[in-house]
Amino acid sequence: MSNYRFKALEVTLTRQRKPLEIPTDKVSNYFGELTFNRSAMQEFLTREAYQKLIDVIEKSEIIDRKIADQIAAGMKSWAISKGATHYTHWFHPLTGATAEKHDAFIVPVEGGKAIENFQGGELIQQEPDASSFPSGGIRNTFEARGYTAWDPTSYAFIMERTLCIPTIFVSYTGEALDYKTPLLKSLSVLDKHATSVAKLFDRNVNKVFATLGWEQEYFLVDAALFKARPDLSLTGRTIFGHASAKDQQLSDHYFGTIHERVLNYMAELEYEAHRLGIPVKTRHNEVAPNQFELAPVYEETNISVDHNQLMMHLMEKIARKHDFQVLLHEKPFKGVNGSGKHNNWSIATDTGVNLLSPGKTTASNFRFLAFMVNILKAVESYSDVLRAHIASAGNDHRLGAHEAPPAIISVFIGKQLSATLDEIEKQTKKGKMDANGFNLNINIPKIPEILLDNTDRNRTSPFAFTGNKFEFRAVGSTANCASPMLALNTIVADQLKRFTSDVNELMKKNVRKDEAIFQVMKKYIKESKRIRFEGNNYGDEWIKEATKRKLNNIISTPQALKILVAKESIKLFEDNEVLSERELRARYEIQLENYTKKIQIESRVIGDLAKNHIIPIAIRYQNTLIENVKGLKDVLDQKTFVKLSRNQMQTIKEISEHVEEIKDQVAAMLEERKKANKIEDIEKQSLAYNQQVMPYLDLIRYHVDKLELMVDDELWPLPKYRELLFNK
Ligand code: ADP
Ligand code: MG
Repeated sequence: MSNYRFKALEVTLTRQRKPLEIPTDKVSNYFGELTFNRSAMQEFLTREAYQKLIDVIEKSEIIDRKIADQIAAGMKSWAISKGATHYTHWFHPLTGATAEKHDAFIVPVEGGKAIENFQGGELIQQEPDASSFPSGGIRNTFEARGYTAWDPTSYAFIMERTLCIPTIFVSYTGEALDYKTPLLKSLSVLDKHATSVAKLFDRNVNKVFATLGWEQEYFLVDAALFKARPDLSLTGRTIFGHASAKDQQLSDHYFGTIHERVLNYMAELEYEAHRLGIPVKTRHNEVAPNQFELAPVYEETNISVDHNQLMMHLMEKIARKHDFQVLLHEKPFKGVNGSGKHNNWSIATDTGVNLLSPGKTTASNFRFLAFMVNILKAVESYSDVLRAHIASAGNDHRLGAHEAPPAIISVFIGKQLSATLDEIEKQTKKGKMDANGFNLNINIPKIPEILLDNTDRNRTSPFAFTGNKFEFRAVGSTANCASPMLALNTIVADQLKRFTSDVNELMKKNVRKDEAIFQVMKKYIKESKRIRFEGNNYGDEWIKEATKRKLNNIISTPQALKILVAKESIKLFEDNEVLSERELRARYEIQLENYTKKIQIESRVIGDLAKNHIIPIAIRYQNTLIENVKGLKDVLDQKTFVKLSRNQMQTIKEISEHVEEIKDQVAAMLEERKKANKIEDIEKQSLAYNQQVMPYLDLIRYHVDKLELMVDDELWPLPKYRELLFNK
């Protein structure tokens, strides 16, 4: 008897280990060699074109056609020198993946020959016939007009012998159809308002940019085992599977020695990432078996987001070369930790100051605290907006599952900083100014050095201050970081704008600048108190406490997404010109539909597998038990038979009970799906999928997982958790 599971196990267990084939060069020798970075620009562009491109990157200047042609020519020569044959505009449509459509450089010329050609126009703008990308009704399919436009701030790069040009993707009428467009707008509005605030403290500041350092968690499973699990291939997660007798209870995987086969994968992944200029730095084993994490050094947010998208692509590609499948899903396995993507975020000035780094002087601490208080206030005002921007079907399994932050957004700032804010709140003294115009008697408390120490940490908070940056931990592992980042940038920008106006208001009444700043800070500290939580976010007490504080605990994606189109969100994004109401409504629709489809697929897959894989096997095994009992009856006297067949009979009955339950639940689920499919309102439909269809997944799973424990291992068709989680 052979089944897919055993074939897959055989392949896995007899795999030949491949030797690692990457150069042993110093990383600095090849770092960024596949990007059109500044040194490549210098080498391949005229001095005029180079200078112009730098101005475009640094000062957002507009490019004219002549220069565009020069840049395109230089980029083409560089790409061809690296072996590229094609070029593509590379963008982030709202499907969540990245998109490319390749065109060859060659154009035929007379005499049956061809030359390589690439014009400025092709660099700057393209019109992919992209009618199948989600647009949430903005772009009717018959119009089919969306275009991509070059984002010169993110270096072009080469992948698969193709020159990839990072672009935004917008509809013909100018609406964003991607993640990058609103991200860039949010960065620009944050720059504007953060610079105004930073200027209150230092007139030399002319630009503020957001920095992002993400930490990507993922699982690796052997490719053969992965292929033998249709649920993993079709939904990214296991919808069945009894827990392995041993999984993460001994915590022996976390930070453990990295297995050789995995290390080879990581080494090649890092090699390719480094060639693409992605500064990957950290790698380690995570909590769950076969779970890992990688993190680069932080970068400017737009670049970092591109790099994360590129990295997820590379992870899948390189995994295939190593006969692994990478699982980016937030919760591939029930009962063991899921995967997140911490977004470490800060803001820095063009004068080289990290605004979230406590300073050494009174003045720099004053500035630090002002930004800190504004961020607290921003999150307090817009916690639901943040929640909406991390919502996904996958992340629903993770948030609040006692391994990741709950769906309640709160902020952890640590004991020291809390004490500092409390102290400010209580101060009433007014006093004299020092030479720099700062009131010494306001007595900005000195921030203890210990803040920079990693000891004062709370790993359970969804949004935690970690010494010189915030760590947004509730982001899911498959997310495009642009989504949480554009939300965070916008709420902070909006808050800083209000801060400036509140301070100006007081100054108009002849309150001195520092006194005005201080008063507004005090007010914000009071107002934002409810968002601060230093305790254990995993505990049930916190849920009670949060209810008292009127903080929302939005546990499902359809409910979370609704905030996108709530009045406060529309006003926020329109006021700051990041997203229009029409764009928000489009995003809302797209994400709801995406959610509904995901649950629909999971529900179909569980139904199919239960009926075609599980039940027939359970019955086959039950038949052998029945044969066995019949045989016992033949050879034993009645009294002994009754005594010795008790447990067998019980198992036979239990199998039938589970099989019946599964059939009933699958049928009932199908009915609910039919009802849900008839609902035309997509909001109601997604709620029906969430509330009426989804619960059946767990009900069915319960019985299948029971059967897994009863049925002969020889017959069981799907690789088991112990096989998926422990094979390398
Ligand atoms: P962990 O959270 O796992 O303890 P670290 O605190 O060392 O790890 O850093 C995590 C991430 O934070 C890294 O990607 C790092 O580059 C990033 N990071 C550090 N400083 C900043 C900053 N100023 N802005 C954004 N990200 C930062
Ligand atoms: Mg972290």
